[in-house]
Amino acid sequence: MRTRILVVEDEPAIAESVAYALSRDGFEVAMASTAAAARAEMAQATLVVLDLMLPDDSGFNLIAAWRKASLSTPIIVLSSRDDEADRVAALESGADDYVTKPFSPREVVARVRAVLRRVAVTKTESPGAGTTSKLRVEPSTRRAFLEAHELELTRVEFDVLACLLEAPGRVFTRAELIQRVWGDGFALTDRTVDSHVKALRRKVAETGADPGLIETVRGVGFRVAEGVEA
Ligand code: CA
Repeated sequence: MRTRILVVEDEPAIAESVAYALSRDGFEVAMASTAAAARAEMAQATLVVLDLMLPDDSGFNLIAAWRKASLSTPIIVLSSRDDEADRVAALESGADDYVTKPFSPREVVARVRAVLRRVAVTKTESPGAGTTSKLRVEPSTRRAFLEAHELELTRVEFDVLACLLEAPGRVFTRAELIQRVWGDGFALTDRTVDSHVKALRRKVAETGADPGLIETVRGVGFRVAEGVEA
């Protein structure tokens, strides 16, 4: 099966230049200029390049709907402003990466390749199911549990938790988490990592458990406590 990239963008010049660069690189490309068209095409896509500002809906609503439907298709957001809040919100809602406009089509192709590589690596090199007495992940199904409660995690939150659970008790630095979850060449700030951990803690707390199960080690990084009996 060819790798099919869905480009969701309502500005024809941008959509066409991205589609052209992707197809020249060997990808099969589908295009959608509205959220409605994107919804119809989503299930056939290997990866989605998504503009946040569409004529009939916000890209944020599309991400939320897809993640709610458990579609794990990777999403790269095209962010129109150099707005950190937008980018963090996109990552928190389940996007895998973002490119800020104006960008070169080659940059989008490079990001697409990087995200596809990262997804392939997490699929084939999944560690054994990590666990503490309370938190548990199932890499094969990408489901996470806190005791009997299933946690509804974004892809990034899942990968962060799976990484921490590989070695309960061990501290992972932010740089290490960036390397493990996003891969090389991702110029992410520590704040981005912190915002994903914060979201993860909030989801843990929503089940009634102690969000401190995921500990901050001041000045170093994060860890899950070993054999917590909280
Ligand atoms: Ca737009």
